[in-house]
Amino acid sequence: MRCEVCGKPIRGEPIYRVIEGARMMVCPECARFGTEWRPPPSRPKRRRKADLLEEVERLQPVEGYGDLIRRARERLGLTQEELGMRLGEKASVIRKLEREELIPDRRLAEKLRRVLRIEVLAPETTSPTIIGVGKPPEVTIGDLIKLDRKAEDEE
Ligand SMILES: [Zn+2]
Repeated sequence: MRCEVCGKPIRGEPIYRVIEGARMMVCPECARFGTEWRPPPSRPKRRRKADLLEEVERLQPVEGYGDLIRRARERLGLTQEELGMRLGEKASVIRKLEREELIPDRRLAEKLRRVLRIEVLAPETTSPTIIGVGKPPEVTIGDLIKLDRKAEDEE
């Protein structure tokens, strides 16, 4: 890495400066010119986005998602209109979702997850799941061993 102003090698981290409108990486000596800018951490962000896209491709609406949405909505005592308002969607969108005439996209699925605590998109072969409501207790290996011992004691 060389200073973009004087061309000297930069030891350690370069300093980011806007000099005469140009974004440059400069040595500490040249840092007194211009104003600071921060490079966007673009690389990891871009990778994460690619991962996300990949995920979208693998996601499918879960079987019976229409029913799942309807039941979750009724559990909250919401009408299709009310749910639509909470999701920022028209009631007709909810109606179509519940009839499975409309496949939720990722954006819609996120909203449904947030409002109804249901997962309508899942990797293929996964059955419908309800998250957040009555979260099942986490079973650790330790618990399993305990359960095992208990079963043995009862015998
Ligand atoms: Zn320099």
